[in-house]
Amino acid sequence: MSAQILDGKAIAADLRKTIQQEVAAITSDGQRPPGLAVILVGDDPASQVYVRNKQKACEEAGFLSELIRLDPDTRESDLLALIDKLNQREEIDGILVQLPLPGQIDEETVIERILPTKDVDGFHPYNIGRLALRMPLLRPCTPKGIMTMLARTGMELAGKDAVIIGQSNIVGRPMALELLMARCTITVCHSRTRNLSDKIRAADIVVAAVGRPGFVQGDWIQPGATVIDVGINRQENGKLCGDVDFASASEIAGWITPVPGGVGPMTIATLLENTLQAAKLHAEGG
Ligand code: NAP
Repeated sequence: MSAQILDGKAIAADLRKTIQQEVAAITSDGQRPPGLAVILVGDDPASQVYVRNKQKACEEAGFLSELIRLDPDTRESDLLALIDKLNQREEIDGILVQLPLPGQIDEETVIERILPTKDVDGFHPYNIGRLALRMPLLRPCTPKGIMTMLARTGMELAGKDAVIIGQSNIVGRPMALELLMARCTITVCHSRTRNLSDKIRAADIVVAAVGRPGFVQGDWIQPGATVIDVGINRQENGKLCGDVDFASASEIAGWITPVPGGVGPMTIATLLENTLQAAKLHAEGG
């Protein structure tokens, strides 16, 4: 293996420690801790794990954390009424509705109901719009966490060719906006993209967010490229793997993120970072 490992677990642990220290300083000053409300609708097993991890991270950081569990058949109007209440509660700085939601609830309607300054997932059209206009406020956690990891490599991003595989609202699109803001040249690929492997071979930075185990092959990677694997796929043996064939890609890449222990831990640490940012905005009257 020639690639250096971009260790998301270690970078996330550093970030969480810094946040914990900042929260300790705030509370010892007599101010309230940042508060995060997480809403889980239904009993999707993966969502339960994500929510548990987020809650644990909040508690370790010294945040106020509130988990609200709703039945799978909850009506959209009841969820919206709950969000209205949380929008008004002063001790709640961040509201996170765990996705996906059951079919009777429209995700966009729910996301738009959250106050933009409490939208710690960064999915509200206001926050995406600000990112698109290069005046970011609360930024989607996974792409922002990836930018934190890229900064740790010390590489100059301006002028790099970046290829993003996947155009979802939560990963691919905001990732493109982040890298564009860092002055990379961006190509966003999706299921209708032609000659995908040729495009990837031309990239200095590859971000794979496809949701297909081992999709990106080592011989698609330019020697020395930075490979960021967002995918979280459960294999038949129960183990997690990414969207990149790690064994072959790590022979060729310059930097590579592992799965698990790469992007996943950064997403959670960035959620804490966003909640702390929201708490500061609220303390300033924002
Ligand atoms: P998604 O909404 O399903 O989007 C997948 C994207 O991949 C789509 O844009 C799709 O194209 C594209 N795609 C599918 N097949 C392709 C192909 N053969 N060639 C090129 N592009 C193809 O998924 P997502 O929510 O972005 O998540 C992607 C992966 O990241 C999943 O494994 C998810 O679990 C993981 N994830 C991880 C984190 C983390 O914290 N590590 C956070 C979020 C998501 P079309 O748009 O044309 O269909």
